Amino acid sequence: MKIGVLALQGDFAEHVAALKKLNVEASEVRLPEHLKGLDGLIIPGGESTTIGKLAVAYHLMDSLKVFGQRRAIWGTCAGAIFLSKDVSRDQPLLGLMDIKVQRNAFGRQIDSFETDLDIPELKQATGTTDDYHAVFIRAPIIESVSGDAKILASIPDGRIVAAQQGHLLATSFHPELTDDLRFHKYFLTMVD
Ligand code: GLN
Repeated sequence: MKIGVLALQGDFAEHVAALKKLNVEASEVRLPEHLKGLDGLIIPGGESTTIGKLAVAYHLMDSLKVFGQRRAIWGTCAGAIFLSKDVSRDQPLLGLMDIKVQRNAFGRQIDSFETDLDIPELKQATGTTDDYHAVFIRAPIIESVSGDAKILASIPDGRIVAAQQGHLLATSFHPELTDDLRFHKYFLTMVD
């Protein structure tokens, strides 16, 4: 199995490191030809407008959209925004997932926070019972899901922070910044 990490901007190196810890072959994607032979792709956190503009500049938009029609993609934070269909403003989006996202929903950088999430699918897929400790950095929320997208995790006030639509996964938070590799494992089961 070979997983690519979109390496235009943001914390792609942390995703590559997490995949390597799981003994998965990982490569950085900067150009359309780098998608060849990949079984799945992770889009990291960072700044979604910057990632989008660079994806346009490097002629990646169409290749990424085609890749995501059949193969697994996981977007964390800015990556989740980039995967979505609607962010209520004009910026380049892949539009692959039927989710509506609100950027910077918790406020500014200083309002970043960490919290434990009860995610039954994650526990079941990894055979564990612990809640998942999630790191939110200038995070978006998923305002709504539609089509066959389903909610995976919400914070206690009900706001959605993780969703899945078949082979596509979006998380508002950053599993690549913790030592808990369960989300990466979960994504790998989606790739299989
Ligand atoms: N605030 C960023 C955006 O809107 C996302 C932040 C992140 O990826 N940690 O794109």
